Amino acid sequence: MIKKIDNLGRVVVPKGYRQMLGLKPGDPLDVDVEGGVITISPHQDGCVFCRGANVAAVFSRKNICSDCLEGIGSIPDA
Ligand SMILES: [Zn+2]
Repeated sequence: MIKKIDNLGRVVVPKGYRQMLGLKPGDPLDVDVEGGVITISPHQDGCVFCRGANVAAVFSRKNICSDCLEGIGSIPDA
């Protein structure tokens, strides 16, 4: 999908994408740039898995709480 940036630097997120992610007007978004790529993602304050507030680690810009971190550590190899 090709979108054009306007004079103020704005880009419209397609309605289907907003619905897919449950985004509503006023929701905070994280905007990052890395390797020439701009990413826009829903802002997450808590753990990416359980939404808990007790964030113990950040991996790939995703918050993980201590309980989920412990759970991940006990996942058997595939
Ligand atoms: Zn968690």
